[in-house]
Amino acid sequence: MAKYQYQTEVGQLLKLMTHSLYSNREIFLRELISNASDALDKFNYLHLTDEKFKSEDWKPKITIKVDTKDGSLSIGDNGIGMNEQDLIENLGTIAKSGTKAFIEQLEKSKDSKIDSNLIGQFGVGFYSVFMVSDSVEVISKKAGEDKAYKFKSDGSGEFEVSEVVKESHGTVIYIKLKDDAKEFLNAYHIKDIIKKYSNHIPYEIYVNYTEKTEKDGKEVEENKTELANEAKALWTMNKNEISDDEYKEFYKSNWHDVSDPLTWIHTSAEGSLEYKTLFYIPEVAPADIYRADFEPGVKLYVKRVFITDKEKELLPIYLRFVRGIIDSEDLPLNVSREILQENRILANIKQASVKKILNHIKKLDKEKFDKFIEQYNRLIKEGIFTDHLNKELLLDIVRYKSSAVEGLTSLADYIEREKDKKDRKKEVYYIVGEDENILRHSPLLEAYKLNDIEVLILDDKEVDEIVTPAIGEYKEWKFVDIATCEPPKIKENEEELKGLEKEFESLVKIFKDELGDKVKDVKITTRLSESDSCVVPDSSDPLVSMRAMFRQMGQEAPDIPLILELNGKSELIKALNTTSDVELVKEAAWLLLDSARLAEGLEPVSKIDLSKRVTSLLSKLVK
Ligand code: ADP
Repeated sequence: MAKYQYQTEVGQLLKLMTHSLYSNREIFLRELISNASDALDKFNYLHLTDEKFKSEDWKPKITIKVDTKDGSLSIGDNGIGMNEQDLIENLGTIAKSGTKAFIEQLEKSKDSKIDSNLIGQFGVGFYSVFMVSDSVEVISKKAGEDKAYKFKSDGSGEFEVSEVVKESHGTVIYIKLKDDAKEFLNAYHIKDIIKKYSNHIPYEIYVNYTEKTEKDGKEVEENKTELANEAKALWTMNKNEISDDEYKEFYKSNWHDVSDPLTWIHTSAEGSLEYKTLFYIPEVAPADIYRADFEPGVKLYVKRVFITDKEKELLPIYLRFVRGIIDSEDLPLNVSREILQENRILANIKQASVKKILNHIKKLDKEKFDKFIEQYNRLIKEGIFTDHLNKELLLDIVRYKSSAVEGLTSLADYIEREKDKKDRKKEVYYIVGEDENILRHSPLLEAYKLNDIEVLILDDKEVDEIVTPAIGEYKEWKFVDIATCEPPKIKENEEELKGLEKEFESLVKIFKDELGDKVKDVKITTRLSESDSCVVPDSSDPLVSMRAMFRQMGQEAPDIPLILELNGKSELIKALNTTSDVELVKEAAWLLLDSARLAEGLEPVSKIDLSKRVTSLLSKLVK
């Protein structure tokens, strides 16, 4: 026998499990059954494909034994099993990302009841057994190996592993129930729990128990074994045979979610290709979707035999929040990973599935659609950039903030509002940045407001800056970044501008000389109404269009030299134009440049100089 120390996180987790109060503890059974079912999946595959196992007379099953005398439960399967190494690694550590955060979350809720549903979500399913027990043994033998091992834990910081004898491959988990968990010794209760959570696990689950009955006037104990589930894979059934609750439970038990799915899409295709798919969209985005090592959510089956849940591209990467099953009738069972990636059959299923999913999303009712957008708008944008085949559909779905409406708008609604305005070019205007508030007050917007032109406010800079320029067109409307285009011409302002340029010629010259290479140019403008100055990129500068490219390559985009524009109708600029105090004008040049930069969410040219200038100006005023 060897003793091992749990990984720190596991130790912490176990302490919480054994000492906290839980609502809904029964889900430990769902977690153990789900593990057993996975183990059967894996052996099922070997049994069908590996010469070594083909001849074995094997009938997959899960057996739950209720032992009232002993006060224990055991859950057995004749699946793939675990060897010594597997037991130590799988049950002594948690490999999943986000575990730390999860434990912290649990610790916070210490005083109140902890929702047990949280547990499965983080791939710590097995440990949920410590909600109902503080003495657990796992006896297991791996298929194809000679030795069997026992893992033993009392929920403290250590566990033991020793060699034992076990006839056939598979795993038995023996659970001595805590005093406050004796309700799980009621076989009827156990059967109800199985019906509730595991009815459509594709393997038979038997419950074995003893019951006192009367026979010839005497009380006798009768040993019973009963099938507790339908054992029919849900996705192979007809839609009209399946209730909403069954769909929901199937989702929760297979993908360990706290909440019901937002929606699901169940398809059966017949014809040149024969396959079934069942996809779910989680109500809350899975925690790891923005991590490079995200867990794929779609499982591949061939003729109801589980093949893999490790393939990340059964659907396009941007749909990585989708959970579900693809079950093909046409693929060979021994399809290898390399083949998977370029398989024509799978490629066809993938393509059809994406269309189904996107069309389904598009047609969600408003409440569900809004929830969807709240969780997944960003991934839809990712799709716009990567999935050219479905760009139009994705552009139908994506939502943006806008200068003209509260909340979010679709592109179709934007066009609808704009299309009948006089002289309106077929252009979708947008402004990109990090901060919604700054964007909404950007001086660049003023000319559009004056002309009653709607501008989309894109404040997810990291994504929008790359994706939006790549959109090109939607329904013949061209996407235009207002920071890189000429402002809309304000009525009769051509003449006016010429006049202003003349009037402010000397002021502009002083500004230019003073600011030197800190600006690309200084100009008088009519695009502003409220602000005194603004900065805009020079649209003729090739760097502007290269910025997005730099970002895509993961490089810091170079600083673009900006043009300082002065509002020719502002009282302040007019006053500066007439004053004889040249020093004051020079100071004002720097302050107007910095305040314009700040208004766009940029850094001032020099923070130290800016603060000096402001203080010196103040002291002049006070004198
Ligand atoms: P998860 O199932 O989310 O990976 P668990 O903590 O429930 O997390 O299980 C950890 C691992 O232990 C599983 O991934 C699996 O490899 C192994 N395991 C658990 N139960 C069994 C079982 N009955 N048979 C074979 N392997 C198992």
